[in-house]
Parts: sequence; structure tokens; C-alpha cells
Amino acid sequence: MSVQMTHIKHLVVIGTGLIGGSLALALKRAGCVERVTGVGRSVENLKEAVRLGVIDDFSHDIAAAVSDVDMVLLAVPVAACDQVFAVLATSLPDKAIVTDAGSTKQSVMASAERYLSDVSRFVPAHPIAGTEHSGAAAAFAELFENKKCILTPNEQTDTKAVMQVQAMWEAVGARVKIMSAAEHDDVLAAVSHLPHLAAFAIVNAVGKSDHAFRFAAGGFRDFTRIASSSPEMWRDIALCNQQSIVDKIDALQEELTVLRNALNTHDGDALLDKFTSAKQARDIWMSKYGDKL
Ligand code: NAD
Repeated sequence: MSVQMTHIKHLVVIGTGLIGGSLALALKRAGCVERVTGVGRSVENLKEAVRLGVIDDFSHDIAAAVSDVDMVLLAVPVAACDQVFAVLATSLPDKAIVTDAGSTKQSVMASAERYLSDVSRFVPAHPIAGTEHSGAAAAFAELFENKKCILTPNEQTDTKAVMQVQAMWEAVGARVKIMSAAEHDDVLAAVSHLPHLAAFAIVNAVGKSDHAFRFAAGGFRDFTRIASSSPEMWRDIALCNQQSIVDKIDALQEELTVLRNALNTHDGDALLDKFTSAKQARDIWMSKYGDKL
């Protein structure tokens, strides 16, 4: 697919937080957008976004904000997409392209199909970049540089719209990959959603004892960093990719059961096998992809 230059006259970011704010900043820095309007729930956050130069103006009224828009980005927690598409269904100009940044793709596409009479100009996307911080103040222009962004168009998606969204993400330094929404949700359940749920569970398990926290060091900090992520965002991701995540939890539970049995039977060889295969898999992953993370 050939790449074209991006020029967006008016971008509306619905959900002016880390991801929406970072895309706005990055497009501004690249000179690819003339005006960015932020839409959100909290007036303080939106005022801060204007003060920081993330957006040029803001509105609480999606319909009014998109009246002359050429690109709309949904960057709200994924379960909130329903209410946004419900408003866009009656207010979106014909020429406008809609994209999103949601961490689950089948649910967001189902949401678009529920409300939009024409889904051909909705291009589902998920930048594989983020931090554990939330809100416009956490946004920064470099967030997507050299990071992957997955697009999951289907047979209904307009090819030109896909090319425009691809060009937008490439303009901010992302490397675009295209796959099906089902594959996206399965892969992300394994490498992102399961680790987040495991981090929440580990902190809760240990957090019953403040005494233990006092002795936690760098390993615990590294392993649990993602447990500081937005609980609201993660509730939505978990519920919107429920079956894939349940499958990965089952796989993790099986692995923990093997370790538990090995401990109960003092089976050092079994532990060594498991620890060695995990170390080898991670070392190979890091040597192949570590410099692209
Ligand atoms: P964030 O909390 O920083 O920002 C979300 C913003 O949406 C907030 O300002 C919130 O007030 C606003 N919002 C919530 N419900 C709304 C509604 N109904 N209408 C309007 N605004 C609403 O979150 P974020 O990290 O920027 O995540 C945004 C999206 O990007 C989510 O769908 C998330 O799954 C996805 N994502 C997050 C990361 C990450 O690491 N944080 C990475 C990739 C994708």
C-alpha cells in the first residue's frame, strides 16, 4: 500500500488523554494538522490540554465539534465507544474519516457497526505504545516513534481511508501493521492484557502486607509498573476482550500449577526445566526484537 503525505485541516480528539493528546502533539510537531479540538469529560483536563498546546480548543458537544471535521480519533476507554458512535451516527460529515486507538478491536468494530449506517470510513487502529500515566498532562509527542500501530480494517473498510490513517500514524513515527481484529485481540490478550491482569493480581496478593512492600526492590517495581495503569481503562479492556483473556488466564494457571506441584514434590529438575525454557524464550525475543520495543 503506497504511503501518502498527511494533511489534516481539523482533527477532533474524543478522549483527550495520554494517547489522544500524544497523537495531537505529534501531528502538530510534524506540521500535519491545522487545528485540533479536544472533547472530554473533565473541563480541568481540557483546559490543561489547551494550556500545554495539546489542543487548540475544546467542546463537550461531540456533534458540534465534528461539524467540519476531516479526521476524528476516538481515544476513550473502549466501553465508552458505544456512546460516542451513537452521537457520531447522526452528526458526522460524509467526508470525515473516523479512527480509534482502543486496545481491543473486535468490540470497537462491533460498536461502530451497531451505530454507523456506513462503516466504510471507520478505520480501526491500536498504537502499541503507552505508559502507565493518564490524562492530557501525561501526553508527549515522541510516544509513537518507532512503535507499532496495528490497523484492523475489514472487507467493508474503504482502502483510501485506510491509506490516510496509515499515513497519519507513519507521520508520527509509527510502523503500521495490518491484521484481522480477531488476530489482534488474541495476540494482545497474550502479550498485554494477561500481563496487566497478572500485575494487578500480584500487587493485590502482596499488598495485603505493608511489611512486605517495605522490602520490595527494583524487580518488584519493574514487574508491577503496569499495575499503576488506569483502572477504568483496564476494566473496559478486560470486559471487551473477555474470552481471549480468560483463555490466557487458564494457560497461566496451568503453568503456575506445574510450578506449585514441583515445589510440593521438591522436584528441582521440573523447576529448572520451566525456568530454563522461559529464560531461553525471553532471551531470544529480546535479541530479535529488543531494539524495536
Ligand atoms: P486516558 O485516561 O489518558 O484518556 C482517556 C480520556 O477519555 C480521559 O481524558 C477521559 O476523561 C476521557 N473519556 C472517558 N470517557 C469518555 C467519554 N464517554 N466521552 C469523552 N471522553 C471520555 O487514557 P489513554 O491511555 O489515553 O487511553 C485511551 C484509549 O487508548 C483507550 O481505549 C485505551 O485502551 C487505548 N490505549 C491505551 C494505551 C496506554 O498504554 N495507555 C496504549 C494504547 C491504546
